[in-house]
Amino acid sequence: MVTAHIPQEAVQALRWAKEHGRDVFVLGGGSNLVVADRGFDGLVLHVGFRGCHVRSIDGELHLTASAGEPWDTVVARSVEAGFAGLECLSGIPGTVGGTPIQNVGAYGQDVANVIDTIVAIDRQTEQIVQLSGTDCGFRYRWSRFKGEDRHRFIVTSVSFRLHSQEPTLSYPDVIAHLARPLPAAPSVADVRHAVLAIRRSKGMVIDAQDRDSRSVGSFYMNPVVDAQVYRELERTAATFGKPPGFPAADGSVKIPAAWLIERAGFHKGYVRGAAGISTKHPLALINRGGASAREIVELAVMIKRRVADTFGIGLLPEPVFVGFDDDESVAYLQKAL
Ligand SMILES: Cc1cc2nc3c(=O)[nH]c(=O)nc-3n(C[C@H](O)[C@H](O)[C@H](O)COP(=O)(O)OP(=O)(O)OC[C@H]3O[C@@H](n4cnc5c(N)ncnc54)[C@H](O)[C@@H]3O)c2cc1C
Repeated sequence: MVTAHIPQEAVQALRWAKEHGRDVFVLGGGSNLVVADRGFDGLVLHVGFRGCHVRSIDGELHLTASAGEPWDTVVARSVEAGFAGLECLSGIPGTVGGTPIQNVGAYGQDVANVIDTIVAIDRQTEQIVQLSGTDCGFRYRWSRFKGEDRHRFIVTSVSFRLHSQEPTLSYPDVIAHLARPLPAAPSVADVRHAVLAIRRSKGMVIDAQDRDSRSVGSFYMNPVVDAQVYRELERTAATFGKPPGFPAADGSVKIPAAWLIERAGFHKGYVRGAAGISTKHPLALINRGGASAREIVELAVMIKRRVADTFGIGLLPEPVFVGFDDDESVAYLQKAL
């Protein structure tokens, strides 16, 4: 394992790995990984680039942060400056460089909406390249960095374009929290505080004292299905009441994975050996203490299988699996159904 403090060190490490025929895994903060019990056989390249600068241009804040900066300090900085665009992403662990990979999102915002440009090392050419936000193939919890260009780029910095308009207030949880009492016009700081409080109550802020926060956040994405599949679900799931569904792109419907998991028989606080489900959040699989990666994967498979058998819907995992190579259970988790 090597920590690169500047992009040139990362290029040197890549050359070393090439010369020695070693695979490379790029590590940010490690908050979205399930690492196999046997580890990763190759070079772990930890991105430790630091630095952040802001410029105010025509009422917008242009914030550029190096990939190794802790994400929440960057969010805090944008909120302190009074600019909107990242406030709902408060309290998410990890680094700046990790955020474009799965288009990090929460409470009605995702980074795709505010990423202006990304600077990265292209591993194919070892050159520094600049990608615009629209070049990144962003969609729900997805980008080209997770798809066709997996392993190709090492993000060195991300530039965000933030605005001075109202904060985003689209999630009922956030609105309800602010309603006690509702400030006349909630500021970005009000929204950040509300989001942090809600996340803490769900074990979604890393806290050494809170066993429920030993997770990768949500383990499964919310399935997005076409309208016909949703109508079929309404019929098959009738005994559970009307399944919640939210309009998504092209007439498709997003179904909360938490609803499916709980109706399939997995409650908050569910325990399976040293692995389990958070007592506060049905989507967070947790290490209750000493769990192996295998135990986490087995629990994840059990949940996916039961949801598939009950509702005919294939949950897909959010985290990145490292060192599992041709593992059959992980392959099952990653396929649609
Ligand atoms: C308690 C908790 C709550 C969470 N809540 C949310 C949430 O609300 N919304 C959400 O979207 N996510 C959430 N997550 C998931 C996670 O925090 C984010 O995905 C985060 O952005 C991952 O960043 P990281 O630096 O830790 O990346 P890592 O976990 O280190 O890596 C994740 C992936 O990104 C790649 N990567 C990392 N850095 C770089 C880089 N510089 N260049 C190229 N590739 C890189 C890695 O190779 C890997 O493929 C949560 C996780 C936890 C533990």
